[in-house]
Amino acid sequence: MIPFNKPPYTGAEDQYVIAAMRSDKMSGDGEFSQRCQQWFETSFACLRTLLTPSCTQALEMAALLLDIGPGDEVIMPSYTFVSTANAFVLRGAKIVFVDVRADTMNIDETLVEQAITERTKAIVPVHYAGVACEMDTLMAIAEKYGLFVVEDAAQGMMSTYKGRPLGTIGHLAAYSFHETKNYTSGGEGGLLLINDERFVLRAEVIREKGTNRSQFFRGQVDKYTWRDIGSSFLPGELQAAYLYAQLEKSKEINARRLQIWDMYHQAFAASELHGLVQRPQVPEGCEHNGHMYYLKLQSLDQRAKFISHMRQREILTPFHYIPLHASPAGQQFGRFVGDDVVTTRDSERLVRLPVWFNMTDAMVATVIDAALEGLSSIQ
Ligand SMILES: *Cc1c(COP(=O)(O)O)cnc(C)c1O
Repeated sequence: MIPFNKPPYTGAEDQYVIAAMRSDKMSGDGEFSQRCQQWFETSFACLRTLLTPSCTQALEMAALLLDIGPGDEVIMPSYTFVSTANAFVLRGAKIVFVDVRADTMNIDETLVEQAITERTKAIVPVHYAGVACEMDTLMAIAEKYGLFVVEDAAQGMMSTYKGRPLGTIGHLAAYSFHETKNYTSGGEGGLLLINDERFVLRAEVIREKGTNRSQFFRGQVDKYTWRDIGSSFLPGELQAAYLYAQLEKSKEINARRLQIWDMYHQAFAASELHGLVQRPQVPEGCEHNGHMYYLKLQSLDQRAKFISHMRQREILTPFHYIPLHASPAGQQFGRFVGDDVVTTRDSERLVRLPVWFNMTDAMVATVIDAALEGLSSIQ
């Protein structure tokens, strides 16, 4: 059986996790957490980063930092994970969905302006498959209307847009270290990236139960007190230790994923020419991270046949998001502005192939053989 995903493993995790277990401080912001955060701040030239227990919680922190409240509107694609929306719905916001681009499945930047009302507070681009949204346009719209941009860069670590790392372009951003992402902190984890000075201190307070405990630990205040609303958004040291091993191998992990992605991309070039599938596109100026390889088949029915063919070959190739606006909660908490031209149509045709760091070339070849056979047999 070739699974769709296996958590990345480099070999150094064991040693670091044991070191964290034997240290005197296993709670948040210990040695490994600091090392990880410094790594992100240096590698991506980011003002401030804070590890969180998940990307979901980093997004929740972003919604708190932006003071999102009842009646506010937040614009995002409908083709995304529930957490992108939930983080803002939890604060009472209404979600405004717009269509995605067919080439990238990212928010269609040309449709954002018409979705803005006087209640709009933020735009949340999702960098699907680690391929960047059209950020210059989105940032210009945000500036024009005085809106915030929160990048859902859950899938986007190590990708760039015009040379800039994803997650460092919007006011705030979130990465995920869930085991299905390119780097994991041992199953669950996330990061809040802060690119605007105004949010730095308050983010530390919100993350530390609403106290200025972080300043206290730095010796900047002589006691800490309750300052603001907040919660516990710190992961423990075991998670940070696991992640640190992967950060040290970030280039190798990225390179291997890109190799696998390229093997698939070459293998399906002829199928695309024959009109059997569409392959993903990476716009000029975007460098991606091989997070995902997907194919678009001709219909929902063909996709079902393809998935079942692959399952018979013991290869798991799942489809992906059910558009949020079509779900019960999406209908309750959001509305779709403009026409749904691409979102539903392409979400029903898209199928994902296995891409994971420790996958062997032989496994990739097996997937390709089975997929090519499947594509010809379902016509
Ligand atoms: C994985 C993912 C999330 C959630 O990440 P968690 O770390 O599991 O909370 C949010 N948004 C997108 C686009 C994702 O792919």
